[in-house]
Amino acid sequence: MVKAVLPGSFDPIHYGHIDIAKRAAKLFDEIVIAVYDRPLKNLLLSPEIRISLCKQAFANEAKISVTGYSGLTVEFCRKIGAQVIVRGLRVFSDFEHEFRTALANHHLAPDIEIVAFITSEEHTFLSSSTVREIASLGGDISGMVPSHVIQIMKDHFHGSEEGQHVLPNVTIRD
Ligand code: ADP
Repeated sequence: MVKAVLPGSFDPIHYGHIDIAKRAAKLFDEIVIAVYDRPLKNLLLSPEIRISLCKQAFANEAKISVTGYSGLTVEFCRKIGAQVIVRGLRVFSDFEHEFRTALANHHLAPDIEIVAFITSEEHTFLSSSTVREIASLGGDISGMVPSHVIQIMKDHFHGSEEGQHVLPNVTIRD
């Protein structure tokens, strides 16, 4: 039985992530969506909300589960008995970061393989930062995220005075 982990910040989860997870579920027996507790990034949504949005996105997928984690991804994989780390690649700028991270993880844990899926063409432009930015400006994100995510983003940016946050700094690859 091959268990694979798809780690990420999922801030928020979008159709690009969902596509990679479902494609990975065709190759591996079990997929664990592992939501970082505190990556070295400015995150918009709390871990609890990011985990809950992921759980709703995969509620009907028997092979896909969701959990939060902190610390090294390879340690998390060992803890749950996963042999594979799944990542997604969109553009060349993803590649350099993913390549370095994969080498570092492989150095730390040679027994864990890193498998990268090339994005589906229609998701090439899609990133959590794009979703956040469009949502913050009141734009239409319905082609990018499931409806339960749209609602949370609306509430976050336009639902209340506290919700009208200034966007945290983002990079083009998150
Ligand atoms: P991270 O902070 O680790 O980059 P993300 O939540 O941004 O976490 O992404 C998790 C994984 O999903 C990463 O491997 C990322 O490259 C991949 N990913 C993000 N957007 C897409 C997309 N549109 N198509 C395919 N893979 C994607």
